[in-house]
Amino acid sequence: MFEELELDAKLCRAVVDMGYKKPTSVQTLVIPLAMEGKDILASAPTGTGKTAAFLLPACQFLLDFPRREPGSCRVLILTPTRELALQVYEQAKLITQHCGLECGVITGGINYGTDRETLDKNLDILVATPGRLFEHIEKESFDCRQIESLILDEADRMLDMGFSKVVNQIASEARWRKQSMLFSATLEGPGIERFATDILNEPERLEAAPSRKEHAKILQWLHLADDANHKYALLKSLLQNQVSTAVVFIKTRDRLNQLKQRLESDGIQVGWLQGEMPQDKRNAAMESFRNGQIKILLATDVAARGIDVDDISHVINYDLPRTADVYLHRIGRTGRAGKKGTAISIAEAHDMGIIKKIERYTEQRLRRRVIEGLAPKNKEARAPVKKKKPKVSKVKKSRLAKKRAGKKKAGKA
Ligand code: AMP
Repeated sequence: MFEELELDAKLCRAVVDMGYKKPTSVQTLVIPLAMEGKDILASAPTGTGKTAAFLLPACQFLLDFPRREPGSCRVLILTPTRELALQVYEQAKLITQHCGLECGVITGGINYGTDRETLDKNLDILVATPGRLFEHIEKESFDCRQIESLILDEADRMLDMGFSKVVNQIASEARWRKQSMLFSATLEGPGIERFATDILNEPERLEAAPSRKEHAKILQWLHLADDANHKYALLKSLLQNQVSTAVVFIKTRDRLNQLKQRLESDGIQVGWLQGEMPQDKRNAAMESFRNGQIKILLATDVAARGIDVDDISHVINYDLPRTADVYLHRIGRTGRAGKKGTAISIAEAHDMGIIKKIERYTEQRLRRRVIEGLAPKNKEARAPVKKKKPKVSKVKKSRLAKKRAGKKKAGKA
């Protein structure tokens, strides 16, 4: 229960309004320590409830220590992408709905006039992407001196996207802060370690994920394809017969465009997200997917970062990702906070290397599935099944050994 976490009644009321019944595992781990004022270093991919895990203690702090005079933001949340910033901002508004705290969002792709209006407000919580915020710091249109809590969301993505220098600069501008929290899908790798050392102060390290239990709610299937045409036929059949809403991941923009045309000429309506799309188009695509106008969303990894839509029933890996880590990120779009989801990968023979890696990483074998009439013909495309050697008892073993020895002799004779 949220009450047991000693959160303010106004925050508890908000989470009830949002439909949360009990805290997720990452929330149970993070909230008490964050409320003690500790710095947090937590591994938690999307879908685990990490956003509320940092928003709730941050809001509690703002309520415990109300500001004495108007000023700029006291809690700064940095996210790698615009979509994620908007989603965190939406959640912050919901969580603060009964507390009268003011939230704002600053991201690239939005006109500077709107930013000015936001920054002129008496903000409590600001969600921002690093690049645009840093522009404001440099132009002195944003003042970091009142920041008491700095939160980095999806820090691994920020590193991937080359934001480490800018984030470090922002962190040093916000040097008067009392608390910092860093959330990342994984805590592995020297990049995150260095980032954490630079930004956090004796953090509590919390490994809430990748939670096998939470991933267990995601069914993971694998379809084997003989070639590109077979792969397309499998996708088409899945979309026509099995899938209600799905995000379909594709490697590149060009492949996305080709697939879009092919699906549309086969009468399957899709929306799409790609890297260099103007912000208003991205928002429109997300909105029609969110409100159910469009059921199938094609996306490249770059474009899909931070998609937060509830009730995505299926994630389809039409192209396999390059790493198991990205795979986990992708499938985290389904099976959110207790709901069931399905992640389907379609693999050709050359994809089997990454499939093995994914299976090792998730410690789970992807279940092989076959669609009637579309079974793979190509032997190489089939997964090599490791047969366990049957256990042979000692007595049998010695008999077998004798038999074999006899055969050898007979062969020599
Ligand atoms: P996140 O990992 O923060 O992106 O959250 C994933 C989804 O889970 C979001 O749609 C949240 O609104 C939802 N969520 C977060 N915490 C809870 C909870 N305690 N109970 C139910 N849903 C939750």
